[in-house]
Amino acid sequence: MTLAFDLGANQFVGMIIVREQKELKATLRLWQSQGYQIGFVPTMGALHAGHISLVEAARKVCEKVVASIFVNPNQFNDPKDLERYPRMPEADCALLENAGCDVVFLPSVDEMYPEAATEKYDFGKLDAVLEGAFRPGHFNGVAQVVRRLFEAVNADKAFFGQKDFQQLMVVKSLVQQFQLPVEIIACPTLREKDGLAMSSRNMLLTKEEREQAPFVYQSLCKAKRMAEQGGLVSSIKNQIEADFKAQGAFRLDYFDICFPDSLIACPADQKVNAPAVFLVAAFLGKIRLIDNLVYFSEKECNN
Ligand code: AMP
Repeated sequence: MTLAFDLGANQFVGMIIVREQKELKATLRLWQSQGYQIGFVPTMGALHAGHISLVEAARKVCEKVVASIFVNPNQFNDPKDLERYPRMPEADCALLENAGCDVVFLPSVDEMYPEAATEKYDFGKLDAVLEGAFRPGHFNGVAQVVRRLFEAVNADKAFFGQKDFQQLMVVKSLVQQFQLPVEIIACPTLREKDGLAMSSRNMLLTKEEREQAPFVYQSLCKAKRMAEQGGLVSSIKNQIEADFKAQGAFRLDYFDICFPDSLIACPADQKVNAPAVFLVAAFLGKIRLIDNLVYFSEKECNN
């Protein structure tokens, strides 16, 4: 266990870094016995202001905040993506400490998976579409790690970003299916000034790609404007797909308009009725960007 500094008698000021579940549970047990609400923010590190906004949301409603940093190999369907995923635990811990996080859980792969994980989850249609269709096994890997982390932290509330909209739905379904004793809190997507959704993968973009990347959010905003003007689902989809083709730098995986709760596609021949969610995934060079916009939640689209 590493302490930033320790006033003794269980009075810890600063942030505690733990690497083992046993240690984590022992640290949290005391706070739990004192009736503190524990908020949990799971991450894969390479933290940015979006992650920090989850810590801040947790601090508002919980006395103690635990963040985890774990690049979960089981949710990567592309080994190259796993290899190039940015890792910077020291800088991450400094950001978390500044944000007022109480504990960081930094497990190794062996700590999370002492034996190969074999659990198979069934989320029905929810993980068969969108990311699930393009990244086979991704959400099963997410569920494997999230369930293990939930068991390790035993938090009252866990904070997830709407940036990963489908992941949020899958985690909610996991909690419901297994009656896990944790409340899932959804937090809004933080964006750069030019509209690009903050993401750890953004730092892997070349300078030129970084300049092109806001096109993803601009497309979502265009789709929203078309919906507001009464456009049909099919014509909005066709337009956005054509825009991506014309733009040239991107390889679009999908642009879809779905019902937010089920992620079932809205009927093609109808107008978009709120609530709906526009979801997009596209490769820009080697980097895959995803984003979404909930129709009637993010009112300001300046792009
Ligand atoms: P990751 O480290 O990418 O696995 O993300 C950890 C958590 O941060 C997930 O709940 C994400 O949805 C959330 N997150 C990632 N990017 C953002 C963002 N731009 N705004 C808000 N939350 C985010």
